[in-house]
Amino acid sequence: MKRDYAVIGLGRFGGSICKELSSEGMQVLAIDSDEDKINEFKNIASHAVIANSTDEATLKELGIKNIDHVIVAIGDNIQASILTTVVLTDLGIKSITVKAQNDYHEKILNRIGANHVVHPERDMGKRIAHNIISNNILDYLELSDDHSIVEVRAGEKMRGKTLVELDIRANYGCNVVAIKRDKDINVSPAADDVLKEEDVLILIGADKDISRFEKHLVIDR
Ligand code: ATP
Repeated sequence: MKRDYAVIGLGRFGGSICKELSSEGMQVLAIDSDEDKINEFKNIASHAVIANSTDEATLKELGIKNIDHVIVAIGDNIQASILTTVVLTDLGIKSITVKAQNDYHEKILNRIGANHVVHPERDMGKRIAHNIISNNILDYLELSDDHSIVEVRAGEKMRGKTLVELDIRANYGCNVVAIKRDKDINVSPAADDVLKEEDVLILIGADKDISRFEKHLVIDR
């Protein structure tokens, strides 16, 4: 089903969202105040328009009210990002995703009614930091300020052990929600299943507990 999206701000982040949505066959209205950016995207997005998104009348003229999901990817100009978000909430857009530049910006965006605030540099930084700590930490996803999901390779320390033996819930307060083996994913892992070195565990828990788990069972030191 085709759905309508608008992407405001065609920097690296907004541009990449616009390209991906378009390649998935979605209708995308691309907006940027920079003519060069619009020329770059005119053959990618369904519509590409030069406009200043802080101007309510312009956004109305563009029919933004008929679009369900708008992504605001203006980075450096925090004032323009905030003003644009206010205009979009005033216009009653159902779903507004905004890129935050820092924690303060994020707080304001949440207060003024952004539905999703994303912080790609910070989140990617965290993911890479965890991956640098150990090659066995494959991914890291923040759920809230103090809870996350991690994807870890069983590695040497868990190889040949069962979930009962490792007793991750009692020892670390985290839950193994799934185990990936080759191309299969087992969402209700058996307690007596013997882990292989290449198995990938998907674990959910409080950051402090995940950190203890990583130190004891994942990091090779
Ligand atoms: P990235 O890191 O994703 O490359 P960035 O954080 O550096 O982006 P900017 O380059 O500041 O973000 O902004 C992204 C785009 O938003 C730019 O192409 C810029 O022209 C556009 N932009 C900035 N202000 C407005 C505005 N008021 N209306 C429309 N577009 C705008």
